[in-house]
Amino acid sequence: MSFVTAAVHGAAGACPPPDDPKAESWRSRPAAHQPDWPDPAALRAAVDALTARPPLVAARECDLLRERLAAVARGEAFLLQGGDCAETFDALTADQLDGKLHTLGRMATALTSATRLRVVTVGRIAGQYAKPRSSPTETRGALTLPAYRGDAVNDRRFTAEARTPDAQRLTRVYDASAATLNYLRTRPAARPDDPPGQLFTSHEALLLEYESALTRFDARTAGRYATSGHMVWIGERTRRPDGAHVEFASRIRNPVGVKLGPRSTADEALALADRLDPRREPGRLTFIVRMGAAAVRDVLPPLVEKVTAGGAPVVWVCDPMHGNTVQSPSGHKTRHFEAIVDEVSGFFEVHRALGTHPGGVHLELTGAPVTECAGGTLAPVAAADVGLRYESACDPRLNHGQSVELAHRVAHLMAD
Ligand code: PEP
Ligand code: MN
Repeated sequence: MSFVTAAVHGAAGACPPPDDPKAESWRSRPAAHQPDWPDPAALRAAVDALTARPPLVAARECDLLRERLAAVARGEAFLLQGGDCAETFDALTADQLDGKLHTLGRMATALTSATRLRVVTVGRIAGQYAKPRSSPTETRGALTLPAYRGDAVNDRRFTAEARTPDAQRLTRVYDASAATLNYLRTRPAARPDDPPGQLFTSHEALLLEYESALTRFDARTAGRYATSGHMVWIGERTRRPDGAHVEFASRIRNPVGVKLGPRSTADEALALADRLDPRREPGRLTFIVRMGAAAVRDVLPPLVEKVTAGGAPVVWVCDPMHGNTVQSPSGHKTRHFEAIVDEVSGFFEVHRALGTHPGGVHLELTGAPVTECAGGTLAPVAAADVGLRYESACDPRLNHGQSVELAHRVAHLMAD
C-alpha cells in the first residue's frame, strides 16, 4: 500500500510529499486490537479506495485545533470533548446530530459563563466507529461469536454472519463521517473553521489501515495529517510506547490524545510524551485520564509531577466515564452520576494541589433522553430503570439533562 500523493489530496498545495520511508513505520510494530479481516483482497480494495478519496478534514483545521489546545495547555481555555462511545450507521440522522450539538452547546455555555475561560468543543463524532474490546468473543447461552468491534468492523446483531469482520465497512465509515461533517458544516454554530462556537471532530485512531489510508501530506507544513478527524486519540489498550498506534501517531501532526488508566505509571506517561511530543509543543499532546473515582486522587499526582518536571506542556483532561463502569441490577453496563462527579472532583483536587491546569473533560453523552447512566437530578435515572431506554452500541452515555447538569457541576469546580 502506498501513500496518496499531493496531487490527489488537493487541499494542501502542489508540492509532492517527500518519499518518507517512516510513513508506514507502524507496520513493523505490534498492533493490538486489529480485526482479523477474513478477505485480504477486500481489505486491499477498501484501503485503495480510501487512499484515493479526498481528505475528510483540512490540515489547517487540525492546526487550528492544535492552537486552541495550546491555549488549554497554558491554562487559558478548557476542553469539552464528548459524544457517543460508538457511533453507528443506523443512528446517523439529523435529529441525533442536532441533539448532540445542542447538548454540547448548552454545556459549553454553562462552562464558559461560570469561568470566563474559552471553551474548546471537540465531538467524539464523525469517525468514532471502531471499538477495542476486553474480550475478543461474546458468549450468549451456548453460542460464542466474535465480539462486536464497532460498525467499522462488524455488525452488532448476534449472528455469525453479522459478527464476521467486513472490510467494505471501512468505506462506509468514510461515507458516514463525510455525511456527518457535511451536516456539521451546515450548522452555523458548529462549523469547524469558523470561530467561535466551532465544533472539531475526534475519534479513537484504532484501525490503523483506515487511519493510514486517510493520512495526507500537507505541503504548507511539510507534515502528514490524519485527515479522518481533527484530533485522534490512542486508547488505554493500545498505548504502549513501542506499539504501532503510538508509532503511527508520532508521524502525524494532528493534536493527539492518549488515554491513561489506573495502572499507568509516571515513567510510561513521560515515555509517551517523549515519543509523541519530543519538541514539547503545547497543544500537540493531550492526556485523557480515566482512572476511576477511587483511584484518581492517588494515581494521578506522580504522573502530573513527572510529566511537568519533564517539561512536557500536555493538556490534562478527565474522562470520568471509563473507570467508573459497573453492572446495573438488570445486567446492563452503567455508570453512576455521582461517581462521575467524584472523579472530576478528584481530578480538580489533584491539579489544584500541584498548581497545574485541570484542562478539560472527555465524556460519553448523547442529546437523547436515554437511561444508560444512573443518577442525576435534572433528568434522573433510577438504578432500576437503566434498561428502559438503553440504546448505546457500546458504553453507557449521559443523557441531555445529565450532561448539562454535569457541566454545571464542573463549572462550579472550575470557579471554586
Ligand atoms: C472509549 O473511549 O470508548 C474507550 C474504549 O476508552 P479507553 O480506551 O479509555 O478504555
Ligand atoms: Mn467507551
